[in-house]
Amino acid sequence: MTGSAIWHPYTQHGLGDPVPQVTHAMGAALYTADGRRVIDAISSWWVTTHGHCHPRIVEAIRAQAGALDQLIFAGWTHAPAERVAAGLRAMMPEELTRVFFSDSGSTSVEVALKMALGYWAHTGRPRGRILVLEHSYHGDTIGAMSVGERGVFNAPYEPLLFDVGCIPFPLGDGANTLEALEAACREGPAAFIVEPLVLGAGGMKMYPPALLAAMAEICRRHEVLLIADEVMTGWGRTGTLLACEQAGVVPDILCIAKGLTGGSMPLAVTMAREEIFMAHWSTDRAKMFFHSSSYTANPIACAAAAANITIWQEEPVLERLADLGARQQALLDRLALLPGVAAVRRCGTIAALDLEVPDGGYMSSLAPRLLTLFREADVLLRPLGNTIYVMPPYCIDDTDLSRIGDVIEMAVRIVLA
Ligand SMILES: *Cc1c(COP(=O)(O)O)cnc(C)c1O
Repeated sequence: MTGSAIWHPYTQHGLGDPVPQVTHAMGAALYTADGRRVIDAISSWWVTTHGHCHPRIVEAIRAQAGALDQLIFAGWTHAPAERVAAGLRAMMPEELTRVFFSDSGSTSVEVALKMALGYWAHTGRPRGRILVLEHSYHGDTIGAMSVGERGVFNAPYEPLLFDVGCIPFPLGDGANTLEALEAACREGPAAFIVEPLVLGAGGMKMYPPALLAAMAEICRRHEVLLIADEVMTGWGRTGTLLACEQAGVVPDILCIAKGLTGGSMPLAVTMAREEIFMAHWSTDRAKMFFHSSSYTANPIACAAAAANITIWQEEPVLERLADLGARQQALLDRLALLPGVAAVRRCGTIAALDLEVPDGGYMSSLAPRLLTLFREADVLLRPLGNTIYVMPPYCIDDTDLSRIGDVIEMAVRIVLA
């Protein structure tokens, strides 16, 4: 073996694509070891919100690293975690009274599923079935894969995945979705898990707030717990702090991760309504919530999250989101005119378009060609099959955003020529 020993995620090493090395980042730019400045048009896989290396977050990490680096969180606590919990209670819907920490979006989903089943078990009405929305993505651990779309990404692991009820993605007015959900809810499932408004990895598929509200209402009527996976949509991506806000929906369980630390450190939380916490509250040790990982609520990660919360409280983040949304729309309006571009759509700061090609889907032969063209043009974009999307850090300026537009236009003209 020669070269690096690293086995990269979602990377086919057999194709021999170059693996650029990045030395530092600032704002919306990554700087490589070979001296290139690359525009981060996908926020380093949807995590960087305000921009890379925001000074307040960097300073919080620096200070915390020298004070308390790590602490067991079973039965112990620390100030950064308390600040995050208090901050979330103040910002998030008031019905979500409890904050459970973990380390990634996938684990926040595992925690949500376990909370839902724990709720039913401990209130003496055991339920075990989970409903999911077609084309969803909830992470790559076994439970998170089980509630996500089945396909080439998880085919070899199929024997380990548990059975779920799949609700079709909305077509037209969404009556197909609502009817299927209504029927499935009558059978008494434990929970329905959804990505609110935008299905990210499933291809930036979007549906309107009214439909989310209607789905939530069906769950409420049938007493099926609603789990909102806002791992990607949270922290302003869709133009509001949470996507659920736009539908006036408060879920029973909420998963947030990616932008929780502004994209600087791995940290996640699962928030729950008081009833779900109280179902586990007892003098019976067998009813406690049996979940932890070594780095649960790591103090340095919590300090970064607390700094992110301060940024939301003290900086005009919502104005920045509105401004970026308008600029993203202008970019899309321009790309929509290109031949071969269809299904142009936007939700908040997320802009997406599909290319009209015969072999759509994640394994579309177009994606690797586009990826190469984008990389050679120093723009980090990572198409999902024939879907190209732009999801930049909120600080991106007009020059970089129009450069992204130029590069997409160039690449689309080449691959569709
Ligand atoms: C990214 C993502 C996850 C998984 O988060 P990780 O931190 O990568 O484990 C879960 N749900 C959604 C909607 C996501 O976009």
